[in-house]
Amino acid sequence: MEGVILRGIGGFYYVLDDTGTVHTVRAQGKLRRKGTRPKTGDRCLFAPGTGDEDGWILEILPRKNEMARPPVANIDLIAVVLAAKTPNPDLLLADRMMLSAAAAGIPAMLIINKSDLDDERSLAIAEQYAGTGIAVMRVSASAGIGIEALKETLKGKVHAFAGQSGVGKSTLINTLYGLRMATGELSEKIERGKNTTRHCELVPVEDGGMVLDTPGFSLLETPLIDPADLPSYWPEFSGLNAGCFFSPCFHATEPKCAVLGAVAEGKINRERHERYTEVLREMRERWRERYD
Ligand code: GDP
Ligand code: ZN
Repeated sequence: MEGVILRGIGGFYYVLDDTGTVHTVRAQGKLRRKGTRPKTGDRCLFAPGTGDEDGWILEILPRKNEMARPPVANIDLIAVVLAAKTPNPDLLLADRMMLSAAAAGIPAMLIINKSDLDDERSLAIAEQYAGTGIAVMRVSASAGIGIEALKETLKGKVHAFAGQSGVGKSTLINTLYGLRMATGELSEKIERGKNTTRHCELVPVEDGGMVLDTPGFSLLETPLIDPADLPSYWPEFSGLNAGCFFSPCFHATEPKCAVLGAVAEGKINRERHERYTEVLREMRERWRERYD
């Protein structure tokens, strides 16, 4: 049979088959010896259990993408969540998270939540991303604003919400799907206290979609990226490269740089470009120290 792994815990995996039945199975020794650790989101071939005998995962099907932390595979979309206020929006963190998603081959979008608290600020943030090609949605999970449109965007997708603690990820999931998710920090503490593997579960929602319930999914680790490749992760820079005098151009301090030109002309948002140069600075440092 074929199915998708919803969750793994203590050597057992919960696998959802195409008819909607969840099977409890174990990973075959052969898989473990090959070094394949099944992940939440993996599609697999499995032999269901028979009465007293456990079922087994026989094979993990090729992954379209995967992350190490949290250990998930085949995510269609990561929604990076910001709050218009409380906590103060950390756009550098948001940009880093979108970079992490993109580096793992996962499309990302931005959700500005708590627009009810400061609509002007919410709009100002959205404006920074105009013309970047990044989809931005302004919502309020508690006031129900923009929720239908967001639901439409997420429909049928395997998706995850990432963002700082307190931005409203759990509230969003509750509002969208009527699911009662434990609020991030609390359940994270409980899980850690129990000394179990970190809770990371896919929950089927309407229209064939699934949402990743990962309490404390606040930090997506940014992988090490060759600084020369970094600009390719800023969609608004693409197409300008050819106009730069230097090649490669890091679009930071180089003379006759088309990206810097576009910033000066206001065609590329200055703050967003500043955050790019901050990420570039960090990445160059990590790149230099990569063999230490
Ligand atoms: P998480 O840590 O990202 O999962 O955040 P929570 O969902 O636990 O929300 C943190 C706090 O923000 C809670 O007190 C929520 O009630 C509140 N909150 C969430 N969404 C909104 C919103 O759209 N507007 C307002 N005003 N408060 C919200
Ligand atoms: Zn340049």
